Amino acid sequence: MKIFNSTKSLQQHLKKEKAKNKSIGFVPTMGAFHKGHLSLMRKSRRENDLTIVSVFVNPTQFGPNEDFKKYPRQKKSDDLLAKKENIDIIFYPSIKEMYPSGFLTYIEVEDITKHLCGQFRKNHFKGVATVVAKFLNIVKPHTMYLGQKDIQQAFVIKRMVQDLNFSTQIKIGETIREKDGLAMSSRNAHLSKTQRKEAIYLYKSLKMAKQRAQKSTIKPKRLETLIRKIINENTKASIQYVTCIDGKTLMPIKHLHGRTIIALATYFGKTRLIDNIIFNAR
Ligand code: AMP
Repeated sequence: MKIFNSTKSLQQHLKKEKAKNKSIGFVPTMGAFHKGHLSLMRKSRRENDLTIVSVFVNPTQFGPNEDFKKYPRQKKSDDLLAKKENIDIIFYPSIKEMYPSGFLTYIEVEDITKHLCGQFRKNHFKGVATVVAKFLNIVKPHTMYLGQKDIQQAFVIKRMVQDLNFSTQIKIGETIREKDGLAMSSRNAHLSKTQRKEAIYLYKSLKMAKQRAQKSTIKPKRLETLIRKIINENTKASIQYVTCIDGKTLMPIKHLHGRTIIALATYFGKTRLIDNIIFNAR
């Protein structure tokens, strides 16, 4: 496994690899690998000749009061895990490498960034879109792998790739969960024992809502209320949002119809957890 810190040396290496006509798979991450990251790496390994993983805790996607400083950084164990997965290249750029002094250019995807997480994390998706655009220009992968867990992020990046004519194909991997259903996340490490036990109610409530929606007709607002009730009755979490959205456009809906997503964000103490479920409504 090769490790690169500089864009220039990575690109020099990739030039040689691409000359051999290798297909390139790319998995962008913020590190602190768990099975969700590993499943994307495996998918890329299966489908490509060469897999690159980037590890970069991107400061521009964190708000001033968010957990940029506290975000887990585990380079040693990440290297070991990536090696075990037979990853070809890890790219660890520094903040200076990605945002040298004088940096002035940002990408904004409109509309679909204004609700869900975007309503509460003001410049979050601007930071995400910008850093991913930079990675796509640096790596120029044939395929990039993203997780369903961050469903709004996946939609935003898909939109950007289409709107700005990037030639990379985007593939979305399913959400990988702990045995009890909690979606794997680097932030789960910050949960207390009690919070960890309570956090299972996020997915439980989403599953119950899905079952309810598939049984008979129900309004999105009533489904959202049902989820809030389950979470409030079983946890001390504070709910930031629970929203039913159209599974094709990601926009909020007044009636359930066809492919539907329910997405939610909650705080367990200071730890922000998100989850979502996708289903076909009746
Ligand atoms: P992160 O390091 O949290 O920025 O995540 C890097 C990539 O892994 C993103 O595309 C995430 O959507 C994806 N990811 C994070 N958690 C999971 C999970 N539990 N299952 C599947 N993919 C995930």
